[in-house]
Amino acid sequence: MNPLYDRLFGRHAGRNTPFLHLPDGGTLTHAGFLAAAARFAHVLDGAGLQPGDRLAAQVEKSPQALALYAACVQAGVVFLPLNTAYTRDELSYFIENSGAKLVVADPAKAADTRPMVMGLGARLMTLSADGAGTLPEAAADRPDTYPTVERGEGDLAAFLYTSGTTGRSKGAMLTQANLLSNAEVLVDHWRFSVEDVLLHALPIFHTHGLFVATNVMLLSGGAMIFLPRFDAGTLIAQLPRATALMGVPTFYTRLLDDPRFDRDLVQGMRLFISGSAPLLAETHVRFEERTGHRILERYGMTETNMNTSNPYEGERRPGTVGLPLPGVTLKITDPETGDPVRQGDVGQIEVRGPNVFKGYWQMPEKTAAELRSDGFFVTGDLGTMDPDGYITIVGRNKDLIISGGYNIYPKEVELVLDDQPGVLESAVIGVPHPDFGETVLAVIVPEAGATPDEAALMRACEASLAKFKHPRRLVTLPELPRNTMGKVQKAILRQDYARLFT
Ligand code: ATP
Ligand code: MG
Repeated sequence: MNPLYDRLFGRHAGRNTPFLHLPDGGTLTHAGFLAAAARFAHVLDGAGLQPGDRLAAQVEKSPQALALYAACVQAGVVFLPLNTAYTRDELSYFIENSGAKLVVADPAKAADTRPMVMGLGARLMTLSADGAGTLPEAAADRPDTYPTVERGEGDLAAFLYTSGTTGRSKGAMLTQANLLSNAEVLVDHWRFSVEDVLLHALPIFHTHGLFVATNVMLLSGGAMIFLPRFDAGTLIAQLPRATALMGVPTFYTRLLDDPRFDRDLVQGMRLFISGSAPLLAETHVRFEERTGHRILERYGMTETNMNTSNPYEGERRPGTVGLPLPGVTLKITDPETGDPVRQGDVGQIEVRGPNVFKGYWQMPEKTAAELRSDGFFVTGDLGTMDPDGYITIVGRNKDLIISGGYNIYPKEVELVLDDQPGVLESAVIGVPHPDFGETVLAVIVPEAGATPDEAALMRACEASLAKFKHPRRLVTLPELPRNTMGKVQKAILRQDYARLFT
């Protein structure tokens, strides 16, 4: 028995149904995909990997990279995908921290990476974006089937490192049950079926593209249009063949920026889902005006997979992340006491359910601090709950500004600024201040060709916010620093402006 393998992959044995539609016009069937995975599993076995060992993969998105995930599940190896943007030094942290025995890297980086990998006692194999390298070479003459390694639901399936938005990435230990339970809930909640064709333009080193998208499609039996990356033109060309899209908010803003993106193009689509970063209510509204579709926003994280979602039927409320998913219990608590806050008040979001991870790898203190003994995980996000249960995320605990003893939620100020003429978006952060400890700095990104009037922006804040929340300074930037998942990196902004007042 290997529940994750059996229910996601093994169920498709012998099926010549389409699984991946590729940009070159080719199609990989479920059976073809399973055969590729089995050949890789033989190589992992041959390389001496035992069940529970870690395999780190820093490779470009490709069908083979996805087959490597399946191979790890089949061989009982813990899969550890890594952001392709990480440098050699960053990579060395992940390999050392995880104790990975085998590292799969892009051939172009092999020469530069090998001494470091070997120095850490690991082996290196290669896999390129077009499926070449020492791993596929070794796999070429291996059998198309592999005796699936016995695993239980409580066994680890993956180490997924968090995005590192608030500090150093942490390795989240995810079990088979964590992944399976979430995939089952999502297929049902979002009505995925064998009829679906998902446009997949997300990276597969992150929970969104790897677990949410891929596991849901494997479980439902549908197909994916598997694109190497997001490109508005390519998406526009592929949309007529698809039924669903999962994206980060920037996918949606970029599609809206393209005049070719219109109602006709999305006639065959049944669902647009957004997550990983906040979707502005304004984007939701513009999207509906343009296409007639209401984007379904959901909220999750590396440590928990998905926690909340707007409903499939029923109201998809802009600016909210919807309701707790079936099986997930969510509460909003006071960060000081851990007690539930009054209904409607801001507090920290805590979640409990079969989706919640086992802990951070080799960080017992951090695990103990964030994973309570009663099973609730303190997410680090702040939010509110409406009387009817809808959750709104207000920001991250770490981004909270404390100025002169007062709490300021950046989102509250950002919403005012974003509403002003000429402002595309904004990021409000706390920076050190000699009198107040911290004070409010607003970073403004103007709309193309616009020059927002600073005095008018300040007047808008004065009109709707208490004085202690007013930005003390406005800075204009052409764009906000974002990571590959479209998350605004406030830590970088805080660093850049740390000395503005000191
Ligand atoms: P790190 O934990 O290393 O600082 P990270 O939290 O960005 O990085 P992820 O696990 O990739 O790493 O992201 C989860 C976070 O993304 C959530 O805690 C939340 O802050 C944010 N997030 C996800 N979905 C949404 C959403 N729909 N709206 C607002 N924020 C979201
Ligand atoms: Mg996090």
